[in-house]
Parts: sequence; C-alpha cells; structure tokens
Amino acid sequence: ATPVGLLAGTGRGAQLGILIRGPQALEDTRAVTAIVLDKTGTVTTGRLSLDAVDPAPGRHAGDLLRLAGAVEAASEHPLARAIAAAALEKATADDGGRLPSVDAFRSAPGGGVVGRVEGRTVAVGREAWLHENGIDVPPELRGQFEAREEAGATAVWVAVDGSAAGSISLRDAVKPGSRAAVERLRALGLMPLLVTGDNAAVAARVAAEVGIAPSDVFAGVTPEGKVDAVRRLQAEGATVAMAGDGVNDAAALAQADLGVAMGSGTDVAREAADLTVMGDDLAHVAQAIELSRATLRTIK
Ligand code: ADP
Ligand code: MG
Repeated sequence: ATPVGLLAGTGRGAQLGILIRGPQALEDTRAVTAIVLDKTGTVTTGRLSLDAVDPAPGRHAGDLLRLAGAVEAASEHPLARAIAAAALEKATADDGGRLPSVDAFRSAPGGGVVGRVEGRTVAVGREAWLHENGIDVPPELRGQFEAREEAGATAVWVAVDGSAAGSISLRDAVKPGSRAAVERLRALGLMPLLVTGDNAAVAARVAAEVGIAPSDVFAGVTPEGKVDAVRRLQAEGATVAMAGDGVNDAAALAQADLGVAMGSGTDVAREAADLTVMGDDLAHVAQAIELSRATLRTIK
C-alpha cells in the first residue's frame, strides 16, 4: 500500500464522519483481535438521572444535593453533569435557580471532585478516593449505599469538611444500539470486553444487557486499571482496540494498539485516540473498523 492510497482512505473516513489520525491507524484495524469497551458514555448513554439522595443522620438531603451540585458543575463527567443538573433543577424550584459558586476546584479522574462551596470543603466521589484523601466512610452509612448499588444504581459519596455526609445515586441506560454493535464487533472477529470505574453490580447488569460474559468484565478500576486491563490482554497475545469517551479513558486509549474515541466524548479522549467516530453510537466503532479494513483491501 502506498502512503497516498492510505491517506485517500483517511479522506474517505472523513466523509463518513470517521477521523483517522494517520495511515498506521488504518493498518492497525486489520490486526485487532479484542476490543475493550468503556461502560459509561460508550456502551451506556452517559446521561444519568437522579435515583436518590441519602443524607447521613442529621444532614439535609436538599443541602447535600446543592453542595454536591455546586462542585460537580465544574466537572464534565457524566455523573457530574447529572448531579449538577438535578441540583440546579431543585434550586430553580426552591429559590429562583442558582447554584453556589465553587473555588479551589480539583478533579481526580476515576476518583471524584473536590472544591470550596460557601466556606465548606465538599468532596464527591468513590470511597477509595475519599479514603486516600483522609476521609473514612462510617460503616453504618454503607448499608443504604450498597442497597442502591445492588438495585442497579451508581452511587457516590458526598463529604463535607472531611466527614461523610451521605450519598447520591444515579441511573444510566444502555444505548439502544449497543447490543447490536457488540454483536457486529464479534462478527468482525473481535472479542468484546467491558471496563469501568463503576461498581461490579452495575457493570454485570450492563454486560448482560449487551451480551458480554461476566468473565470479560473489569469493574471498579481506576484509569490506571484500564491501562492494566489493556496491557494484560496484550501480554496474552491479543492486539487490542479500546473504545472510550472520558478523561479517565485517555491513558488506556493511548496504551491500546488502536484507540477509538467517541466524537461525543471529551477532548482528552479524542487527542489520545487513533480514530474518532462521529457522535456517540457504538455502531460507528464497528463501522469504522469495517471501513478501514475495506479501504485496505481496495488499495492492496
Ligand atoms: P467509567 O469507567 O464508568 O466511565 P470513571 O472511571 O469515570 O467511570 O469513574 C469511576 C468512579 O469514580 C465513578 O463511578 C465515581 O464513583 C467516581 N467519580 C469519577 N468522577 C467523578 C465525579 N466527577 N463525581 C463523582 N464521582 C466521580
Ligand atoms: Mg466513559
């Protein structure tokens, strides 16, 4: 294949809404044997809705949502968008609709967010990350949190001034085309796997819905854990594609032999990927691989 031919292929990709970083990416589509799929925003819609607000004893649900929403308003994570939107909706109903401003905002991809709101330090995220920041969740709050997760929701902790103040749970749905797209990837000879920072119960439910075996799911992993999942498959001899949309997926997209970003996702994911597909439809990932392989056949 001549470089000119390959670049013509990338031009055709652009017509179909697939952005290909360079000729090598096209070549790589041929060898791919496994595809690691990020869950939130890639297999699921990533447009979460509020499930429940569970304040710790002595805390107020409305306050918890308002403080968490104020911090999350500064983050582009799907969980953050949902929490900020729910808080804003509540604020609009209550008092003319404003969330307090946030200072000293910091975000830890795959962990959570923290900032100063109304003179208080508010952190929202997973338990392991709170723990790393010196905040421990008291055992008596865990029952409610785990019940939300077992019921299929994604729950996050909220801490105020260094103590767990309760939790917020959210729900996400599998995209309508995801199951068919997973089948199509399998038909292309790719073994699909699911990877997520979310909890095992939610991951198992999503995997079952799209036809991925429980043994092919990596749940509760950090962004670095996503890289390890890709690396482990590579060490077993697989040539690995990874599809993702988040800041938390960027390192794994770079580690993969073929990184595929969803066009609807973050800039960071697109910059780390070899291919970017249009929109948020997982079918476009299968289509991109089909197209790239077909382009290679044409120019041989
Ligand atoms: P996924 O792999 O499903 O896209 P992430 O790796 O982005 O998920 O996040 C993993 C976990 O880290 C989330 O389920 C949540 O507990 C926590 N987390 C990450 N970002 C945020 C945030 N902005 N607010 C609250 N929790 C967060
Ligand atoms: Mg994601």
